[in-house]
Amino acid sequence: MTTPQPRSNTPQPRSNIGDIPPYVAGKPPTVRPGMTSYKLSSNENPYPPLPGVVEAAQAAVGQMNRYPDMGATALYAALGERFGVPVGDLSVATGSVGLIYQLVQAFCDPGDEVVFAWRSFEAYPIAITAAGAASVRVPVLADGRHDLDAMVDAITDRTKVVLVCTPNNPTGPSVTQTELDAFLARVPSHVLVVVDEAYVEFVRMDDAVDGIATYRAHENVVLTRTFSKAYGLAGFRVGYAVAPAPIAAALRAVSLPFGVSTVAQAAAIASLESEAALLERVDALVAERSRVVAGLRAAGWDVPDAQGNFVWFELGDRTADFAAAADELGIVVRPFAGEGARVSIGETEANDRLLQLAGAFARS
Ligand SMILES: *Cc1c(COP(=O)(O)O)cnc(C)c1O
Repeated sequence: MTTPQPRSNTPQPRSNIGDIPPYVAGKPPTVRPGMTSYKLSSNENPYPPLPGVVEAAQAAVGQMNRYPDMGATALYAALGERFGVPVGDLSVATGSVGLIYQLVQAFCDPGDEVVFAWRSFEAYPIAITAAGAASVRVPVLADGRHDLDAMVDAITDRTKVVLVCTPNNPTGPSVTQTELDAFLARVPSHVLVVVDEAYVEFVRMDDAVDGIATYRAHENVVLTRTFSKAYGLAGFRVGYAVAPAPIAAALRAVSLPFGVSTVAQAAAIASLESEAALLERVDALVAERSRVVAGLRAAGWDVPDAQGNFVWFELGDRTADFAAAADELGIVVRPFAGEGARVSIGETEANDRLLQLAGAFARS
């Protein structure tokens, strides 16, 4: 869609609005007769909702004539209990994308800088530009990891926020606790450090970040998490931040009133009650991830460490060909033109097709 150019005698949006980069959503699969197609382009959970979630959501549907509980009281209580944090240290929102908008809005004046790794989550520069703040992108290392030293070096007196995406979408690796501690020791205490843990449930590594312990130890650390990925509620838009009380209060202050719907609140609470089933599914996806990564490496692909529910292929100018070849096999990946492709871990059959593709593509 092209952006129409407003005429000068009509209302004009702020000048930064025209600079907002578009969000490229993962494509749905191409429908092919006689073949099941799979969507591996948005890091969604391939499993159906957790036990009890559909029932809770359906019960909430009956209340659609009423506004949601604006305080999301029951959801806050459930999150506080689950993670052992005071309710005043939480802020729920319409997905963690909503939280990122709120963070930038609450902490940045126009022209203030936000430092983040690149390539990373594509919503970051969108939220930052929308707020009139400036994006400072620090290239990831050759193996897809954050260059935390370079990120500290990029902090200026205009920097208000630093975003650490761990595991990093789309490249896959996580930072370690040792790395994060060393980084936090160097970041000035007035700079807010956002640890985006959208995929935290999938992390299986030594020296993994303990987000809750980290937030407890620092007055400038906020964690953002989501029900979209491991919990499988991407369609309902619900996420939460864990932060010291003054930061959480600022996030709640700028939140969209009644943003999180009644159905989303009910589904999130029911999902938190299905912890055992959640763990089982996440473990199954992690096992599939290991199988896929091992298969890719055996086929000669040098894929980065994958700590989320996706793998990254650095392809350069072969990216479009790779995406087209995937489409032929009935799987849709997320290409980043000229850079590479991110492929979600999905159903076993979908993952098998990815391995088939990677074998064929490497040889071609
Ligand atoms: C998917 C994702 C999110 C969250 O999305 P919501 O659906 O808005 O909660 C946040 N950060 C990263 C890095 C993601 O990949």
